[in-house]
Amino acid sequence: MNEEKRTLSIKTYYGSLANMKKKYDRYARKDGLQATDKKTYEAWKKEARQTLSLLLGLDKMDKVPLNPIVEETVTLDNGIIREKIRIQTEEDVWMPIYILIPQGETKEKRKVFLAPPGHQGGGKYSIAGCDDIPAIADAIKRFNYDYGMQLAKMGYVAVCPDCRGFGERRDEYAQKDDEESFLRSSCYNLSHMAEAIGETVVGMCTWDLMRLLDYVETRTEWDTEHIACLGFSGGGMQTLYVSALDDRIKAVCISGYFYGFKDSLLILNNNCNCNYVPHLWEHFDMGDIGALIAPRPVMIQSCKEDHLNGPRGLENVYEQMDILKAAYRVYDAENRIVHDIEEGGHKWHGDHVEEVFQTFFEQIENEE
Ligand SMILES: [Zn+2]
Repeated sequence: MNEEKRTLSIKTYYGSLANMKKKYDRYARKDGLQATDKKTYEAWKKEARQTLSLLLGLDKMDKVPLNPIVEETVTLDNGIIREKIRIQTEEDVWMPIYILIPQGETKEKRKVFLAPPGHQGGGKYSIAGCDDIPAIADAIKRFNYDYGMQLAKMGYVAVCPDCRGFGERRDEYAQKDDEESFLRSSCYNLSHMAEAIGETVVGMCTWDLMRLLDYVETRTEWDTEHIACLGFSGGGMQTLYVSALDDRIKAVCISGYFYGFKDSLLILNNNCNCNYVPHLWEHFDMGDIGALIAPRPVMIQSCKEDHLNGPRGLENVYEQMDILKAAYRVYDAENRIVHDIEEGGHKWHGDHVEEVFQTFFEQIENEE
């Protein structure tokens, strides 16, 4: 039978987007940052953190002992030691992690970066630079995805976890070894399991990173007083939320994930489920969540042609940067924001990281 004759060709569609954009304008951001001085900012921050924690479902997370298990320790060809460990983040929930540890003498204890993964890279495998796996080698080329390995080459300890639904943590329907399944995540399935019970995917990821911080703090051979977090895309999302809620992160880099919700998640409504937190937009825009990081140094990286910025491009980023800057202004700390704007599409750019973070760590240490 002729394929074309099996359906009707619809000339006019009656979708919901136009209505939802108006609803957004009517209901969104009722708890956005308004503060113009330290006192009102700090009061807002306290309340906003409580609201955000509840929206993410963090109240439903149960603390269990970390029970760390070292599964493997290898020395890579480049001399970097790669530990594979596993920690328990909740009952029956395990987080596998690669830790990249540079070798050689240093004057001070090595600083540590958490480097959570984004989508389409097989979780920790691309971040930790496992280019001996061909599918991962391609993902690394596509997004310059091995930022964990890049950090280790700069001399930092890079902690590269699988977040929930990625890599070894894929849920049942995504547990296949073909290339597509290996690279993708089970955020869709996770969100179906989580949301109706009051949890969220990004809440699970945030909780797990908080427990990962607890683990890193036990590794006293490293500098656990100045832990940084860096992530691109979905890893940028996780970096944003954990840094907003946990002050143990002292310096932050969010790449490819800083833009207004309306353009980037409502209009671009085909994005992954993990981006969507029930009721979140009623309270905050993304800039407000970023504003919870103030006054800790933060680098935001945006690519000019990144389709995820939405139809208005960088305009949608600048508006959120303005909210972020307003928070730092109350501390007279706008110099602690670096907005790194790069050419091209959705991709990680590591060229300025070393220099920027050297400055960030100096800023932090001068203050102490
Ligand atoms: Zn996702």
